[in-house]
Amino acid sequence: MKITDNARTILEKRYLKKENGVPVETPEEMFRRVAAAVAGAERIFNPALTEAQVEEYADRFYRLMTSWDFLPNSPTLMNAGRELGQLSACFVLPVDDSMDAIFTAVKDAALIHKSGGGTGFSFSRLRPKNSPVRSTGGVASGPVSFMKVFNAATEAIKQGGTRRGANMGILRVDHPDILEFISCKENNNELTNFNISVGLTREFMDALARDDYYELKFEGRVYQRLKAQEVFAEIVNHAWANGEPGIIFLDRLNEDNPTPELGEIEATNPCGEQPLLPYEACNLGSVNLANMVRDGGVNWDKLADTVRLAVRFLDNVIEINEFPLEKISVMVRGNRKIGLGVMGWADMLFQLRLPYDSEEAVELGRKVMAFIQKEAHGASRDLAGERGSFPNIDKSIYRGQQLRNATCTTIAPTGTISMIAGTTSGIEPVFALAYTKNVLDGASLVEVNPVFQAYVEENFPPEQARSIFNRIAAGVRVSEIEYIPPEMRRVFVTALEISPEWHIRMQAAFQASTDNAVSKTVNFPSEATREDVRRAYELAYQLGCKGVTVYRSGSREKEVLITGAKN
Ligand code: UDP
Repeated sequence: MKITDNARTILEKRYLKKENGVPVETPEEMFRRVAAAVAGAERIFNPALTEAQVEEYADRFYRLMTSWDFLPNSPTLMNAGRELGQLSACFVLPVDDSMDAIFTAVKDAALIHKSGGGTGFSFSRLRPKNSPVRSTGGVASGPVSFMKVFNAATEAIKQGGTRRGANMGILRVDHPDILEFISCKENNNELTNFNISVGLTREFMDALARDDYYELKFEGRVYQRLKAQEVFAEIVNHAWANGEPGIIFLDRLNEDNPTPELGEIEATNPCGEQPLLPYEACNLGSVNLANMVRDGGVNWDKLADTVRLAVRFLDNVIEINEFPLEKISVMVRGNRKIGLGVMGWADMLFQLRLPYDSEEAVELGRKVMAFIQKEAHGASRDLAGERGSFPNIDKSIYRGQQLRNATCTTIAPTGTISMIAGTTSGIEPVFALAYTKNVLDGASLVEVNPVFQAYVEENFPPEQARSIFNRIAAGVRVSEIEYIPPEMRRVFVTALEISPEWHIRMQAAFQASTDNAVSKTVNFPSEATREDVRRAYELAYQLGCKGVTVYRSGSREKEVLITGAKN
């Protein structure tokens, strides 16, 4: 197994099994543990399998991961074959309008966070601020005040958990408290464990297009009429100021809801890529596209094989997954949603010498994802032949067909697993081609994107190569290095040089063949205007995206991503 120092450090910090704070397994042993646990599901499905046959599956899964062709989401790596046994990254919990329901959700979320899962909630069912509370004669404090309770609970369990708990808070645009919600993260120190998104409705989008009013209502009662344009401007202003709120298109999520008879989709997981019904969970996994290139083209055969084995892997994960709540187990086993996606897209484009912001790249993205979708659905149908369709199939849009999983594809951010695999995250462009990293003894080390490094080392003498890496790490862009040929300067383009329009077009190209949604941050330079942000939101709606997250460089006091600090 070839592993980078970075990956080893990450695994040692959070993933490897520890006793008294010291790792008691190596990365290889960790992957053996995960592979054996996931292969164990084969025995549940087919008790006639011999030990050797189960081990053969374990070997295949081990090779799938340690070749870095595919990795499951972090909780699977951390917890498979261990006591915690909770393997999913994404959950949605309902928040009903009673004290009992609210605090049950707080507790359920705490148990999920402890195991490394993230939780999404719609707060739209909570009565507006100042509504009467019958049993006490007092008045309700409203969705935003309760979000603070969830936030505090998350904060308190941070230390003991496997990783920082993350939440998504969603409020429908027609909830009477929407204006308070839009500004609830104005102060960067508030609600730090939440991402927030406004749930936009078709009614709202139509009113926006007509420059009309729309109604704020709760349980049938109209509270107020607001101009859609004005509310939209508030959303845009706040997103421009510090990246929040994001937006999601609720009607679009429900158009793709595979089981409408089981309920309406009102929320997503924390990073927005996984719409789920209340009490549903989903386990994700991502194919590393950087490993799917051969002779300057896409290695379609390898991609197909990888996708098919990955679908089997993810379906097995559902079988051995241990959830903190019986209700979640029942929902998950009924729909068997999985979310296979990609990482290393930018690295693939580098290898193919295609600029991210080009028609060719967008078209290839469309083609790659359509291929993955087709293979994933094919594999899920085959599994249905072997193991049966998901139990709720007759309550789904697939009634009368065969399919093992109600959804198969999702594009996750792959924030950590892409670092473990040593590639670029999700479908994001590279943020910086090289950056300076401080190492223990006070020395510093220049980290270079591996595809860029290979190109430079092949084409320039060592001295010049070193100078290129140092200049880039110091903040110079490839486009400013005259002796790199113009077409290669175009290829090695980075996130902030790519216009928001291209970010969105790429997101839309992948969304076109994704059952669930796509995690993507649309980067803006610091000088971008509110009008730029508004146009990006509208384009995303026109092109069929399910939601958008924007981030304007430098707009948060403490930047999460800093050029030259993360690739
Ligand atoms: N997630 C979380 N806490 C984190 C990072 C991620 O709860 O610190 C959840 C969240 O639902 C997110 C999902 O995991 O949408 C997938 O994130 P990512 O792909 O970055 O996770 P990875 O598997 O790479 O760790």
